[in-house]
Amino acid sequence: MEQILLQHYSLTIQKQKKLDGYASINYQVTTDTGHQYVSKVYTQPEDFVLAAEESRILNAIQHKIPVEVPITIPNISGELLSQNPDGSLTRLLPYIEGMFIAEVAHTPELLFSLGQAMGKVNQALAAEHSDSIQARRLFWDLQYAYLNEPKMAYITPAADQNLVWYFFDQYQYVVRPQLPYLRHGLIHGDLNDWNILTQGNQVTAFIDFGDIAYTPLIHELAIALTYMMLGKENPFEVILPVIKGYQSVIPLLREEVELLPMLITTRLCVSVCNSAEAKANAADTEYILISEKPAWELLRYWISCNPVAITNLFLQAAGLETSDYETQKTETAHKRSLYLGKSLGLSYQQPIHLHSAAFQYMYDTAGNTYLDAYNNIPHVGHCHPKVSEAISRQVRLLNTNTRYLYDSLADYAEKLLAYFPPSLNKIFFVNSGSMASDLAIRMAHTYTQRRHNLVLEMGYHGNTITGIDISSYKFDGKGGKGQPDCISVLPLPNLFNGLFQTTTEYVTHARQLLEQLEAEGKKVSAFIAEPISGCGGQMPLAPGYLKALYAELHRRGIVTISDEVQTGFGRLGHWFWGFQMHEVVPDMVVLGKPMGNGHPIAAVVTTTAIADAFANGMEFFSSFGGNPVSTEAAKAVLEVLEEEQLQTHAKDTGDYFMAQLQSLQKTYPVLGDVRGSGLFLGIEFVKVGTHEPDTTLAARIKNQLKDQFILTGTDGRYDNVLKIKPPMCFNRKNADLFCAMLAKLLL
Ligand code: PMP
Repeated sequence: MEQILLQHYSLTIQKQKKLDGYASINYQVTTDTGHQYVSKVYTQPEDFVLAAEESRILNAIQHKIPVEVPITIPNISGELLSQNPDGSLTRLLPYIEGMFIAEVAHTPELLFSLGQAMGKVNQALAAEHSDSIQARRLFWDLQYAYLNEPKMAYITPAADQNLVWYFFDQYQYVVRPQLPYLRHGLIHGDLNDWNILTQGNQVTAFIDFGDIAYTPLIHELAIALTYMMLGKENPFEVILPVIKGYQSVIPLLREEVELLPMLITTRLCVSVCNSAEAKANAADTEYILISEKPAWELLRYWISCNPVAITNLFLQAAGLETSDYETQKTETAHKRSLYLGKSLGLSYQQPIHLHSAAFQYMYDTAGNTYLDAYNNIPHVGHCHPKVSEAISRQVRLLNTNTRYLYDSLADYAEKLLAYFPPSLNKIFFVNSGSMASDLAIRMAHTYTQRRHNLVLEMGYHGNTITGIDISSYKFDGKGGKGQPDCISVLPLPNLFNGLFQTTTEYVTHARQLLEQLEAEGKKVSAFIAEPISGCGGQMPLAPGYLKALYAELHRRGIVTISDEVQTGFGRLGHWFWGFQMHEVVPDMVVLGKPMGNGHPIAAVVTTTAIADAFANGMEFFSSFGGNPVSTEAAKAVLEVLEEEQLQTHAKDTGDYFMAQLQSLQKTYPVLGDVRGSGLFLGIEFVKVGTHEPDTTLAARIKNQLKDQFILTGTDGRYDNVLKIKPPMCFNRKNADLFCAMLAKLLL
């Protein structure tokens, strides 16, 4: 080093200190006269041309910009780069004074000056051109962010990896197709907080142009904003002066600002992917890991933020008109009432006009984020990227029906049946829980050659004619015509405020009913029930009830059907299927809702004997049932459940949630009962000191929770039970928020 600097620059070095660097090895050097420089040594031939171009460009713009940049000091022969004996190149830069922006308070004035400086630099760079810079495919450059996607594999646990995938997915589908049409220019490309120098509340210099890129101009702002947001309590508000500063120099275009949020999340993803790779390779990690923790914090925080609100905040800062969905909402509501039947309900006194959703959050068009404690259909999370990817991949490849051979159907059937006891080994695919329960009843009829069915009070199993016939919730509810002749109803074995106080009484009652039906010559074909009654108010069937009842039913050749539409797929935490909590094995299982995470796939799982009896010559065919797009979606759901260990997560979160609710119960006696398992919980509201329902209070709490941006619903015979059945990624923090809000509303 000393020799090179002496030979090429006539400088005598007294002190040298290694600095962080990426493409080059950097030293801070002090000469005998006390002058300071930065010397950069480039060892890779592919960096030589770029270093020369960077030097040429910076030297060209230095006088056109209000900030200092590391111009290259020519050697004694007037060359910008000096050849070293080992073939490497040295480049000498002035040492620029100042405090890094990372080390000072981020006042609005400072951040405005950052935006302004960036704008001026981008403006000056617009006059420059470099073929070699333009040809480079740098993985930090946001137009090539997809080059980082394979590095997601280094991220653990899987839930974190899938969060990054969600944001990369938005990049691929929303951002990337638009990039070629945006304004391009040369940009610094890495204005992180250790590349920005300040003096006296003003940005005074940009250093390290090693990532200089020809790319959409907006990337400059996106990257700088990313780093300015890290570690901030109110990250979106904090950065607005940067946008305003930039905007004062280069007026931003609407299409640029609208992409800013996703460009920022993309940069965060690029950052965490490279941190994960560096850690896995045990590389010189300190420099690259600097932003890892705050980047993760910001990504996790980001999904709790409404994208409409973020975009509007940025649009406003850029002096552009914000998006207003109010007219659209009114129009949608109007069209809906015009074209759809009145029997379709809308939740809440003030319905929610949705924009989008991610994992356990739903975003409305007014800019609010709702914590979803209610929707169990998006089982592994709203818009989970693994499911989205599976669907979009398969729908482009092949979508057909079960009359043809394709691998996905058989593979998924094998994978799903592995979750069942060996006797349940045949599967029939359909497209809704209703179709599945309807089919189950039909199969039972074929198998038993009987017609009468036994159901539980408050049960709901579907919207077909048979579905309504077997759903006491419907035929005994509003608009219902009462119990059909072919149905007998057993009381819901509810030990909180049901007909009896003990399991034995419920079982005895059931046995008596069976005997009575026999005496009347009514031959019972099937018994259908949920292991925890959802419409019955998240009521777990009394312990021991199903075990004793199943024994009675099996003795009489009656087919037992467990409706796992709500309770299946690990939701209960302790058990993968609800029937396991009752230590029974049904003859048939009805599946739906969570099976495809919202993609319409449902199924009946049954025994060989029943499946064989059903093969009586009449073909069973469902146009959409078991199509490869559906089975790929469903396969992805199982894979996510496994890799994110969501059953264990549901148990852990559910146990924690339940304990919090139980402790609230001590303070608020209106919480008559809290019950359920895993992430399938219910809170029953009662009049203090009694088990009498308080329907009004339950409705108030449901609507007020919604006003506080937490989604739940009510159900039960008296509609006084708050139902909690969120996407399975719902976590302890979410449970804390729920409980804190509930307590506040009960005060
Ligand atoms: N069974 C149960 C237990 C359900 O909760 C539902 C839907 N709420 C169904 C069956 C019917 O499913 P689908 O709405 O998919 O037809």
